[in-house]
Amino acid sequence: MEKMVAAERVTDEEELASPTPTWVAAQESAAREAGLSVLLIAGPQPPQLAESNNNSICKSFQSSPSHAQLCEPFCGEAFARAQAAGEAVYYRCHAGLHCFAMPVQHGSERPSLAVIGGRAFLSSADYRRLVERFRDGDLQSLWSPGLLNNVIFSTPGGLEKLVALLSSEAAKGKPPPPASTATTEEPPPKAETHGAVTAQLHGNSHAIRQSLRESCQHALSILKSEYGVETAALIFRVDEKFVRLGVRGGIDALAAIVCERLNGGAWPELRGREAIHQSPLSLTFQGGQAEVFPLTVGGELRGALVVGRAPLNATVRASVVEFCEAHVLPLEVLRLREELQRQLLAAHHLQSFSAVLNAVEPEEAYSTILRHSVELMRSERGSLMLFDEGANELKVQAAIGPRAEVAQKMHLSLDASLCGAVLNDGRPLVVKNLRAAGHAPAPADRNYKSDSFISYPIIIGGRRIGVLNMTDKLSGEVYDDLDLNLLELIAPQLALALDRASWHQKATQFQLLSITDPLTGLVNRRYMEERLAEEVERTKRHHFEMSFLMLDIDHFKLYNDRQGHQAGDLALEMTAQCLKSALRTEDVASRYGGEEFTVLLPQTSIGEACVIAERIRRRVERTQFVHGETQPHRALTVSIGISAFGAELETPSAIIGAADQALYAAKRRGRNCVDIFGHQPISPPIPHAD
Ligand code: GH3
Ligand code: MG
Ligand code: MG
Repeated sequence: MEKMVAAERVTDEEELASPTPTWVAAQESAAREAGLSVLLIAGPQPPQLAESNNNSICKSFQSSPSHAQLCEPFCGEAFARAQAAGEAVYYRCHAGLHCFAMPVQHGSERPSLAVIGGRAFLSSADYRRLVERFRDGDLQSLWSPGLLNNVIFSTPGGLEKLVALLSSEAAKGKPPPPASTATTEEPPPKAETHGAVTAQLHGNSHAIRQSLRESCQHALSILKSEYGVETAALIFRVDEKFVRLGVRGGIDALAAIVCERLNGGAWPELRGREAIHQSPLSLTFQGGQAEVFPLTVGGELRGALVVGRAPLNATVRASVVEFCEAHVLPLEVLRLREELQRQLLAAHHLQSFSAVLNAVEPEEAYSTILRHSVELMRSERGSLMLFDEGANELKVQAAIGPRAEVAQKMHLSLDASLCGAVLNDGRPLVVKNLRAAGHAPAPADRNYKSDSFISYPIIIGGRRIGVLNMTDKLSGEVYDDLDLNLLELIAPQLALALDRASWHQKATQFQLLSITDPLTGLVNRRYMEERLAEEVERTKRHHFEMSFLMLDIDHFKLYNDRQGHQAGDLALEMTAQCLKSALRTEDVASRYGGEEFTVLLPQTSIGEACVIAERIRRRVERTQFVHGETQPHRALTVSIGISAFGAELETPSAIIGAADQALYAAKRRGRNCVDIFGHQPISPPIPHAD
């Protein structure tokens, strides 16, 4: 009964509290104009009374169980903050988003309301940190594909502008006095970048919520309408490769040449800190003449604007430089956002590849790999072909999409097919238009929607494994360099998963033995060295981190002598088990030889590697080995050396050698401890028991 009364009362209050349509419209328009998020609340949220342009990250928090704990001290208390202050209060939440809370008096008979506004990143560093938390940290469980659909970037001025817009609207609904625009508590911090450019970023805040491709096209249309430049291409550095993101006026081939030269390290003069202030490069190509304007951020070359039909006159040239200065930062912010979003997506699918590494049925493994690749690339169709060396043929192992059953049966000669040529050359092929590129059209019975596709060779350490093909993008767009970058991000893991699956498929005892150590079930040294070489290449290309461990059982000769060879073998198996249980799926543990093991830790910093190494060391120390207590440390123990990819350690042999030296240092320090190559000892040696 009591509950019913309460419920009725709430309904009345809700009625009173519900915002007028005028306010909702005004809030919508203010949110749109400022390019920020606005939420109207009547008390501690949720529920919100009206929500405009909410940040997708906040939405994800709102629907999670951690909401109360994480967001409560910030947005959760916004209503109270706003009421207490009687004016706008700015704050930065746990996620690094800048917000404000502001009271809104909304008609005299109605209860007080408040708005939460902003929910925007003011610095790319804050954004990067948050994404790291979603990718590897405490927020991993909240990751969802829509998480980054609407991420908002702004400037302190942007938040202030929104406060002013909402205040003037609130003032219309007075009394009592309208919320003032004064800043209390923490004033919004200064943006990291120069004023002139951030102002532009704010001005373009709508543009930065489009995709990078769309924004580049949009920028080129501004270049035409406002500066009269009709023939131009925008090039940006994405995943460390210069790619064409927008082309106008048919200078695609010219832009491709500029990209190729930039990727080849040409024009060092464009890379200098002052490059943006220099006059553009004038180039004469087969296809005509062009001027290349550098796009720099913080002294780093991030892209270039290629203007065709050069030379330009001095006035136009000056305004093009102005255009570059105005657009480079918003586009760079967008690039960063998309790059991280792609990396998150790739990481999500990579986890599935890792799971495939342990999958039992190869057929299932192939279709799983293909399904994830097709999803990642947002393609309608795809096929996965494996190379049969004996027949010199590519055989389709899995196909997805309309008429997949036809594709399933295909065998293609390596020397007489496009995919065969891709595998032979070892270079991916991105075709925007099959006919225009001079290739034979695809068979009519396949009913392809578009003439655009990607064919990607899968090769490990020089061994040709197969080809992955993607056709018909769901969006109907053509494939371009950005799609290729995405494939490159997952290619090494994909190759590994495929390789393992194909080994299992061929599974004669002999073939399995050639990659796996029979005693411990870990991969052997030869296989590890191949993987390490690949991982080093990938680390270089994507500027990832990578660490490597070398382990050796302490006083193992003594153990063998005292307990016998059989007990020694069992101890080796148990040590391998400790390794497996302490590692993540993407880590590669190998038996390097005798009682030595290695662990390859992809995308792992030296700090993280220390944590993992220490975890392994402790796990071994605490494991009950047969008569382990008779060992000098009263337990069977290991010593571990760590090395990491870096400026001085760029090759697989240098990385292995460095880990070995660190291991030697750990042994000298007393054993049962971890040492890092080139660093001071990280923990005191454990004293000997005897
Ligand atoms: P340290 O702490 O310096 O590493 O001393 P250690 O005794 O472990 O070093 P050493 O390299 O002298 O001895 C390694 C021993 O490992 C030699 C051999 O008896 C044993 N061993 C190597 N491979 C195997 C194996 O497959 N099975 C068994 N049971 N023992 C092995
Ligand atoms: Mg040894
Ligand atoms: Mg040893």
